[in-house]
Amino acid sequence: MKQHTTRESWLLAAVELLKPLFGAKGYVVPEALVSCGFTSTGVRSGHIGQCWSKRSSSNEINQIFIAPTLESPFEVIDTLVHELVHAIDDCEHKHGKEFKKIALKMGMKGPMRSAGAGPELKETLNALLLKLGPYPHGQLKVSMRKSPRSNRPRAKCKTCGYQVPMLKKFLSYGPPICPKDKVDMEALGDWEDSI
Ligand SMILES: [Zn+2]
Ligand SMILES: [Zn+2]
Repeated sequence: MKQHTTRESWLLAAVELLKPLFGAKGYVVPEALVSCGFTSTGVRSGHIGQCWSKRSSSNEINQIFIAPTLESPFEVIDTLVHELVHAIDDCEHKHGKEFKKIALKMGMKGPMRSAGAGPELKETLNALLLKLGPYPHGQLKVSMRKSPRSNRPRAKCKTCGYQVPMLKKFLSYGPPICPKDKVDMEALGDWEDSI
């Protein structure tokens, strides 16, 4: 068993092992560049993989990205299978019936947007993982949450409760005066940058 030192070498070796599985169902996996990387929709989209069509790439080769936020090698290879279905379709039909036909034939299940291995394919993939050896990766722990609203700098009038959000560039001016009560408003949230 080869010990892969980069995620790309592991992913490309995985593609080679997956080719016969697709081949057995009559599908040819096109040449594809596969890397560990974020999707263009960003980490907060929750998307764990992305496949680009040949026409998106100057060398006319499909490009696939597998999110670094995935932890287990199984999730990685499961996502890779999903993206390879897109590559076979050259991303022509998104998750439409053409995609579904390939996915179901391969033994995938679930809503097509997130279709993954059904029980039988799962077993096959687990066997492939033994051949592949460890995925040389550490799960990237990225917060999926937006910075909490409660921390945004804002000002509030203690008398009437009037509130306004503050723009960062004007924080140094200090809290404004309530237009109604003409008193200094209270600074709430994160004013750290200026005060
Ligand atoms: Zn998809
Ligand atoms: Zn007021």
